[in-house]
Amino acid sequence: MKTYLRLTRHNGNTALFLAVEMSLVSTLRGVPLHIHAEGLRGTGKTTIMRAVKQILPMITRVKGCLYNCDPAQPYCPQHKDLAPEEIQALGSEQVPMPFLEISHSAKIGTIAGSIDLGKLTNPSKPEAALLPGIIPQAHRGIIFVDEINRLADTSPEITDVLLDVMGTKPGRVQIEETGLPVVEVPALVSVWAASNPDEEPGPLAEIRRQLSDRFDLVAPTGRPSTPEEVMDILSINEAVQGTDRELSQQEKRRLEKLQRDLESIALESELVMPEYLTNFLANIYINFNIESLRALEAIRQAALLHCALRKRSQVMISDIMAVLPLALYHRVSPATLTEIMNTVNNRMTGNEKKAFSNNNRNGTGNNSRFVQFFQNKNQAQQPAGSSQPPRGNHLTCETAPPQKARQLRELIGKGLIKRESDS
Ligand SMILES: [Zn+2]
Repeated sequence: MKTYLRLTRHNGNTALFLAVEMSLVSTLRGVPLHIHAEGLRGTGKTTIMRAVKQILPMITRVKGCLYNCDPAQPYCPQHKDLAPEEIQALGSEQVPMPFLEISHSAKIGTIAGSIDLGKLTNPSKPEAALLPGIIPQAHRGIIFVDEINRLADTSPEITDVLLDVMGTKPGRVQIEETGLPVVEVPALVSVWAASNPDEEPGPLAEIRRQLSDRFDLVAPTGRPSTPEEVMDILSINEAVQGTDRELSQQEKRRLEKLQRDLESIALESELVMPEYLTNFLANIYINFNIESLRALEAIRQAALLHCALRKRSQVMISDIMAVLPLALYHRVSPATLTEIMNTVNNRMTGNEKKAFSNNNRNGTGNNSRFVQFFQNKNQAQQPAGSSQPPRGNHLTCETAPPQKARQLRELIGKGLIKRESDS
């Protein structure tokens, strides 16, 4: 068994590691962060996302509450009207943050909720009650959907439920059952999804654009790109092969340490975005005609989280630089992204640039290697001989061309994304 910590981090997956850790911290802080891993088969997207189950932070809930009521803010049909003393009398317990999966064959009742047949048919005390579905049961945690593009294509009903859950923060879910009044409960749930844009029915942005935009961040996931990284993966595979053993004490301790680290980072209450940076982002939004305000909100939220993971309390422009590609990957063309990155880069002071590249060197800021991953991709699009990405400072431009979300199929055609059949 490979633990979360033994999964090899390389150029192709650092964005995903960053995204899942930011989302865990954000969810624990009470604000969902929806993330989508896009990549070809065999890039380990789902392995990384599922391995997070080993490091889920703990949450405190009203004892036995299937809706994971926070004792300080009970909200479920059973507990919302109780007095604080009554909640206290019920007791509380610590459980790992929920991590539940939605399968493509699931019925709406299983996902949202249904009538509790057990209680209804209880001969001694029959009563009509609701059984919370997967989403209400994942309150304050994670919902994982694999092959989200296929789900959006074949299950419009489940897609609509997800749109509601992801429409606001926290989202909401309606539990409907014939003969009972509709119950709506808040759903503080981060939706994690994975998809392969090269497989049927194609990229999510083309199947259901609205759903694609609800993801705050997209983490493009690729294969390792250097022989050293491949050797690293092979050596770890060899070390764990044939030993379907329990985790060693040392591995358990390291996983627990990471879990506690994430908890303490989430508890950091003061995270500040200086006004000049908010202003700067607003200018980017206007000058580059970014289509969705959600993009801006995602950059802001992710920059605060990136700053928290670096154990700082005030956002720096380097935090914005690190998260921009993830928040804009599915929202602007690669050329626009390059221009925006250049604009941000030009705004960084010498010290900030130094901090940014130091992060790169000491390994904790692997995401900046990921920025490079993007830039390489963009350069691949340029004519031979031009080694620099196009320079441009749109903050001084009055009219920037409107940008449409990039069509991934088109990119595949241009060779920017490698098809499995190419290799
Ligand atoms: Zn409750």
